[in-house]
Amino acid sequence: MLVKTEPKVYVIGVPHFQTEELERFLADQDLSRNRYEAMTGTDAERIVEMATRLCYQSFKKGRDTEAFFDNIISSGHGSTIEHANFTVFLTGVSRSFTHELVRHRAGTAFSQLSQRYVDASLSAVVMPPRIQALAEEHQRAWVSHMQRCLDVYKLYTTILDERGTERATTERRKRARETARSVLPEAMEVYMAMTGNARAWRHIFEMRTAMSAETEMRVVALACYKALRDHAPNLFGDYELNDTGELITPHRKI
Ligand SMILES: Cc1cc2nc3c(=O)[nH]c(=O)nc-3n(C[C@H](O)[C@H](O)[C@H](O)COP(=O)(O)OP(=O)(O)OC[C@H]3O[C@@H](n4cnc5c(N)ncnc54)[C@H](O)[C@@H]3O)c2cc1C
Repeated sequence: MLVKTEPKVYVIGVPHFQTEELERFLADQDLSRNRYEAMTGTDAERIVEMATRLCYQSFKKGRDTEAFFDNIISSGHGSTIEHANFTVFLTGVSRSFTHELVRHRAGTAFSQLSQRYVDASLSAVVMPPRIQALAEEHQRAWVSHMQRCLDVYKLYTTILDERGTERATTERRKRARETARSVLPEAMEVYMAMTGNARAWRHIFEMRTAMSAETEMRVVALACYKALRDHAPNLFGDYELNDTGELITPHRKI
């Protein structure tokens, strides 16, 4: 049984700004290219900036990119940053973590490893940060309990598979696993794919790095922030990390 002690974040999807299409739009509408040509943001930010300028047809003059985003963030014009979506894959996270994460509804999409289709005895377990901080003997006790749970899981998947009446192997195994998983611990590792728009990510960074949030959640939320901030420094650059690991901004919940 593999024991994991930290999450990994893979940034799988970031926006791609379609230069030719934007140029075609400006030409068709006979709009100025000034602000378009002066843009300095990342692809994600270019999409947001152009979408926002479309509201006011402010393609000719106006703030530079940095000042433009300062204004969006400080005025709380949050709907505009929903145009930028970022997808991460997470590993080294527990089922108890994903159970909390999927409570976020607005601007998010999730896909997670199925415990019905995938044999959980092949999965790792995630040791919670506060167990990692305990003495070795207490960590060992935790690991051996996890192993016992997996042994019982294996026992039940075997018995239930043998007794299953479904003729198709995949269906029989699925039924066996969905029942046997009742003995699995919340510490089972789950692979998770999450997409969030920039507004949703901001909400998650603020809420889930706060002192009151669950410990593993805080670790993962901060890791996501670190993985994403360079893809959109104008969208996420107002955060500061304080001494207690919270992401702080004067512009909460825009
Ligand atoms: C410290 C902590 C403890 C928690 N404890 C518990 C607990 O004991 N039990 C429990 O069940 N959950 C608990 N939660 C989960 C919490 O209640 C939320 O479900 C979760 O954090 C998602 O956040 P959100 O509601 O802001 O939703 P999101 O889906 O992230 O939405 C973002 C924002 O969009 C707006 N929004 C979204 N949906 C709606 C809507 N339908 N109507 C109006 N506005 C909307 C709101 O302004 C919301 O804040 C806890 C969360 C934290 C951080």
